[in-house]
Amino acid sequence: MSRRALVRGAALGVAAVGFSATTGAWVTEAAAAGPFDRVPRLDGELRLDAGSRAADSVDQGRIVARTPGAVLRPGSVDDVARMVRFCADRGIGVSARGRGHTTHGQSLNENGLVVEVRGLGRIHRVGPRGADVDGGVLWTELMTAAFARGLTPPVFTGYTDLTVAGTLAVGGASPGAGSTRGLQIDHVQELEVVTGRGEVLVCSDRRHADLFRATLGGLGQCGIIVRARLDLVPAQPSVRTYRFTYPTGDAAVGDLRTLTERGEVLGAYVLWAPAGTSFVGQLLVSVPFTPGAPPDGRHLLRGLSQPPSAAAVTDLSHPDWVTQVNRQVAQLEAALDYGRLVKPWFDVWLNSSTVDRFLQDVLTGLSPHDLAPGSTLLLIPAKRTGVDHPAFRGPRADATPWMYLFDILDNSAAPGPDPAFAADRLRRNAELYRKARAAGGSRYPIGALEFTKADWIAHYGDAWPAFQRAKNRFDPRNILNPGPGIF
Ligand SMILES: Cc1cc2nc3c(=O)[nH]c(=O)nc-3n(C[C@H](O)[C@H](O)[C@H](O)COP(=O)(O)OP(=O)(O)OC[C@H]3O[C@@H](n4cnc5c(N)ncnc54)[C@H](O)[C@@H]3O)c2cc1C
Repeated sequence: MSRRALVRGAALGVAAVGFSATTGAWVTEAAAAGPFDRVPRLDGELRLDAGSRAADSVDQGRIVARTPGAVLRPGSVDDVARMVRFCADRGIGVSARGRGHTTHGQSLNENGLVVEVRGLGRIHRVGPRGADVDGGVLWTELMTAAFARGLTPPVFTGYTDLTVAGTLAVGGASPGAGSTRGLQIDHVQELEVVTGRGEVLVCSDRRHADLFRATLGGLGQCGIIVRARLDLVPAQPSVRTYRFTYPTGDAAVGDLRTLTERGEVLGAYVLWAPAGTSFVGQLLVSVPFTPGAPPDGRHLLRGLSQPPSAAAVTDLSHPDWVTQVNRQVAQLEAALDYGRLVKPWFDVWLNSSTVDRFLQDVLTGLSPHDLAPGSTLLLIPAKRTGVDHPAFRGPRADATPWMYLFDILDNSAAPGPDPAFAADRLRRNAELYRKARAAGGSRYPIGALEFTKADWIAHYGDAWPAFQRAKNRFDPRNILNPGPGIF
């Protein structure tokens, strides 16, 4: 522990100095009684106070609560490696946490150690050959640094105040660019990972490829991403958004498919919001441009069920376009105390040939009255780029290179715990997942779904043996990221 951290911790009486094997608890200097194993010296802090542990005991879903025994705010990659080794020797669970924006306990850990990866937040390099960033950097921060050089990550999630490592651990689907550029994990050159053995390994598709493949989309099961080298592409200064509105639920999907398969716009997606007794659909189409040379909407939007002139047009600077959902979330936060609402989100990938039937079924079975203010449904296409990520499970392949992410992003009506609401929605999600699975769909593991170990094995399918081998090799004590309950 650093002298600074030790002094501060000692003053508060809350910094952990060791772990007692006899009581199975982390100990402070002040409370140390009996034998304990002293934690290694750290550049950052190991916190035991109730506030730090409570802050990491919940996630965006507010369905599951698990209080960690200690929280590491790493001051260096070595801190993560030292503490993982310490925990591995004692069989203590370790969870990596970005912003904790998954919704069903994926980043939580009862009694173990939570590593706040945000503590590693340096942007090391940004240039035409790519970005080199710590795992705890937010995508918003990377976008800002890259845009200053006329560059951008090729793919953004809708909300971008998420950590680089946190979205690479799940996949990273993009409403704005997915239909042409795929997922965020398609644009990773190299990762630096702390394995469950506490080794620091650099991996890529040429070096420790098994670790690389098990880590992208791998829910932190084989290692903690501490640094990433990512693709960047030239950024246009502005982005035009065309917004079509559809009075009925599924009419937007045909137009989305037309635009997606034609591949002439950067991205397009559909958003539904409850309106009275039905859902109003909106198709949002993104086209980057340079001011003075606006896009030709009449050409790009030809052949849809509505004329191009029916679209509302908004122009934003690239940074404002990338961060627009962040502003919407901030408004929800102010209006609804959004962070404290229960969010039993449902998220599945479907292939192009089954998505229409599935949606028809879901949209007719779902009552807008069941969705509280703040709730939306989304359909986001993503191109299968051909890059192989066995730990990311897409839907069964079909004849097209596109897959579709369908999300029900719903929430409770009032802040605070609501176990009855959560239980009801978990039942709904289980039923919808069963239907999606029957249609060749797959779970996107950011949402809330009860999953047994057998469900996970079925989820990984033919990738399970290699994933299990990687787990045995890189996390033989099975300490990493117990939240999803895979191993
Ligand atoms: C408002 C909102 C909008 C969203 N929009 C999108 C979207 O458009 N597209 C999309 O794909 N997703 C979206 N998401 C989901 C989001 O991408 C995932 O929940 C993502 O995992 C959250 O990142 P995080 O930094 O909060 O990670 P966390 O929730 O903290 O972690 C997610 C998982 O990754 C693991 N993990 C965290 N850090 C590491 C690490 N360093 N190394 C290894 N494993 C790690 C955790 O243990 C956990 O299992 C959205 C979420 C919210 C709340």
